[in-house]
This record gives sequence, C-alpha cells and structure tokens, in this order.
Amino acid sequence: MSEKSKVVEGSPPDYPRYRVEPGSKVSLAEIDPDETERYRKKKDVAKKLEAQRRRIRDLQERLYAENRRGLLIVLQAMDTGGKDGTIKHVFGGINPQGCRVSSFKAPSAEEANHDFLWRYHKSVPAKGRIGIFNRSHYEDVLVVRVKGLVPEEVWRPRYGIINDFERTLSAGGITVLKFFLHISKDEQKKRLQARLDNPEKHWKFSSNDIKERALWDAYQAAFEDAINNCSTEHAPWYVVPANKKWYRNLVVARTIADTLEAMDPQYPPAEEGLEKITIPD
Ligand code: ATP
Ligand code: MG
Repeated sequence: MSEKSKVVEGSPPDYPRYRVEPGSKVSLAEIDPDETERYRKKKDVAKKLEAQRRRIRDLQERLYAENRRGLLIVLQAMDTGGKDGTIKHVFGGINPQGCRVSSFKAPSAEEANHDFLWRYHKSVPAKGRIGIFNRSHYEDVLVVRVKGLVPEEVWRPRYGIINDFERTLSAGGITVLKFFLHISKDEQKKRLQARLDNPEKHWKFSSNDIKERALWDAYQAAFEDAINNCSTEHAPWYVVPANKKWYRNLVVARTIADTLEAMDPQYPPAEEGLEKITIPD
C-alpha cells in the first residue's frame, strides 16, 4: 500500500483504512491480500464485526429518519472475490426498508441502447437510503476494456465521465464509497475448486469463470487504472485485503460505520408541543 494510505500514527481510528488517497498511485501487486492486522482467526474478530454491524444499524436508522442524504456503496472484485458474501455478512442485520442491493450483469438490449451510465443512475439510492451496487458502472472500464467490447477511444474517456457522475451524486447529497475486494490468484483457484467440489456450490460455478481467470493480469491492470484514475475526495476507493473473508467483512463494515458516523445524520426535529398530547382512549 502506498505511504499515504497507511494509517497515520495516533490518528483516530488507529487501524489501517486502506483508502487510496486521491492523486496517489497504488500497485495491486504490492498490496498483500492476506493481511489481517494482528488478528489470526475468525474468532478474534467476531465481536468486533458485530459491534460494527450494530453501529451501521443505528446510523442507518438515523439516516433514514433524517431523509436528507444517502449512501452508495460500490462493490467490485475479481470473480469469487466475495461481493455476495460481503453483502450477506455486513448488511445481514440492517432494516431492509432503508437498503437496496442492485446487481449488474451484461446490459440488456434496452440498457445497451442508452448511454452507459443510464442503468446505474436509475439505481442510485434516494435520500435516506443506502444503496449497494454489486458490480457497477466500473464494469464499463473493466470487462468492457479487457474483452475489447468497445474501442479504447470509447472506454478511455469514461474515467473522467465516471468522476463527473460521482461528483454529481455527491453534490446531490449521496456519499459514494467504493470497495475493491482484493484476492490473490491462488485464492481464486481455491474458491473455484471449492465451487466444483461442493454440490451446493455448483450453481455458483460458471465455466466462463475459467475463461475470465485466464485474463487475470489484464483485469488487475484494468482495476489498477480504475482505482488510480477514480479515487477522489468525493468518492474514494478502498482496496480491502480479502483473502480472509472474516477480515474483509470487518474492514468493509468499519469503513461504512465510520463514514456514516462522519456524515452524522440527525433525527428531524419533533413536532411542537408533543409533551402536551395525550392519546385518547
Ligand atoms: P458474480 O460473478 O458477480 O457473483 P453472478 O455469478 O451472479 O455474479 P455473472 O453472470 O457471473 O453473475 O456476472 C455478471 C457478468 O456480467 C460478469 O461476467 C460481468 O463481467 C458482466 N457484466 C457486468 N456489467 C457489464 C457490462 N457493463 N458490460 C458487459 N458485461 C458486464
Ligand atoms: Mg460470476
């Protein structure tokens, strides 16, 4: 991780933030996907994860009641990187009324007939809500670039277009947080193998994943460019060590809780004179 993204001694909270500072350049090969701070196993963080989930739950309630601002969480990763597992474990306990997950696959014919941001913009959370993008507008500079689905003169300008889009959201009261769940190529092999070995995981296996795996280096390069070109003050990227699922969950949960806490959502003022009201029998 670059010097700037390391924790500054004594600055609260004093754990690694994994934030890619705007203007800095990260090299994914230099970021250890096995990192787990001082923790060794899932049990070491179980209570900590629960505490973070509680923070998210309480703050989400306030965000919903305030109804002035929203939070968009973008999850991106290589195949098997853990987007689904993160959603399940980090958001499992929150009020479904205030939260929506949008998953993006290859565009439908209708979606493909619009500008590339159209389908994403429609799914951006409303005020008071949390929106989770399982894959996102970044696919349009990732798979689209790696597979050559459009020429470079089409995808290259998209970094700037994406920055402008995210600035628009942020100016409209939507905070944008982006996570790259960083796994190693070996870890992906293990996870794909596990999907083959376990009949209950067969449904998750797609032979296309093997084809995509062959393009590992091209994807890493595309992710690196997306992260370096689009980590901004208004919409930072976080590169999360994700080989250990329990550590990944902890990092994502506390980053979201810290962000919500910094937003400091407030309950709206109560109606005047509530203390004088008696509920009729
Ligand atoms: P995941 O792999 O995210 O857990 P999944 O297995 O349910 O999801 P897949 O069909 O494997 O679903 O993933 C969705 C596919 O859609 C991916 O291969 C992704 O690259 C592709 N995709 C997403 N957005 C776009 C896009 N804008 N253009 C082309 N392909 C896209
Ligand atoms: Mg898949």
